[in-house]
Amino acid sequence: MLPVIALVGRPNVGKSTLFNYLTRSRDALVADFSGLTRDRQYGRVKLGDRPCLVVDTGGIADDAEGIESFARKQVQVALEEADVVFFMVDAREGLSVSDKVIADTLRKLQKPVILVTNKVDGIDANMAASDFYSLALGEPVQISASHGRGIPELLEKVDQLL
Ligand code: GDP
Ligand code: MG
Repeated sequence: MLPVIALVGRPNVGKSTLFNYLTRSRDALVADFSGLTRDRQYGRVKLGDRPCLVVDTGGIADDAEGIESFARKQVQVALEEADVVFFMVDAREGLSVSDKVIADTLRKLQKPVILVTNKVDGIDANMAASDFYSLALGEPVQISASHGRGIPELLEKVDQLL
């Protein structure tokens, strides 16, 4: 089994954008992989020379359900399958109640969590990140998934954790 990175976060923070960026090569998408369930998207990504799987947990949310249920399901996926969790937040919108709910559950995980502040393109990234220190999940890694910024640094950080 390859190491698994789970993308977790409330809707619209950019999980799928990052997933697509990481898995953009032609044969990166994983159609079938024994031991993994089918209701979410898996792709291949390389950390240096090391192949990993990345999982976009976004598809498991039902809009009619509250954020608590959403967070619980995402964390369940992360617990079951992930070796590392990317907890994504939106640097433009700042810290939200949903972020805090998800952070509370993630903090109880006995797995490494990397706080990722996305959408730092065109804004003062350091100002935007300062909000998120209160989540007590360490220093945020600042990225722009749509512009590919900060992603080498993010992957380097994971590489050190795995
Ligand atoms: P998800 O619900 O977490 O999967 O979020 P999506 O990947 O669908 O992205 C939600 C919206 O944010 C889309 O309109 C994206 O184009 C936009 N978005 C994602 N990443 C970035 C980014 O780095 N910068 C900006 N400005 N917008 C982004
Ligand atoms: Mg999505």
